[in-house]
Amino acid sequence: MKKSYTNIQDFLDDAHNELDLKEILIDLEIIDKKDFNGNFTNCVFHDGDNTPSLQVKDSWYKCYGCGAKGDLFSFIQNYYNIDFIESVKKLSSSLNIDISSIKFRFDGKMSRLKQEWSKQQQ
Ligand SMILES: [Zn+2]
Repeated sequence: MKKSYTNIQDFLDDAHNELDLKEILIDLEIIDKKDFNGNFTNCVFHDGDNTPSLQVKDSWYKCYGCGAKGDLFSFIQNYYNIDFIESVKKLSSSLNIDISSIKFRFDGKMSRLKQEWSKQQQ
C-alpha cells in the first residue's frame, strides 16, 4: 500500500490486492491470533460457532456455517455496523494511510465502484 491516496479506485484495488484480512483482524483486535487455525477461526457473525467455520483468505472471508461472506470492507462494515465509506476510513486510519484528499461526496458512484469490484471477483 502507498502512504497516501488521492483516488478511491486505486485505494480499493491496492487494498484488495495487497492486504491480508487475517492480519487486519488481528491488528484491529477483532480476532486473536491464537484463535486462528490456519485460515479458519470461529465466526463472529453467528453465535455458538464451536467448530471454526469462518475462512479468511487474502482480502476475503466466507463462513461455512451462516453463509456470511465478502471482502475486507464488508467485514468491517458488518462487524462495526458502519457504512462502506466509514469502513474505508477506518481501514485507512488503522494502516496510517492518508486518504484525506479523496472526495467522498459521490455516494452513488462509490456503491457502483464497490459493486463492480464484487462482480470482477465472482
Ligand atoms: Zn458465521
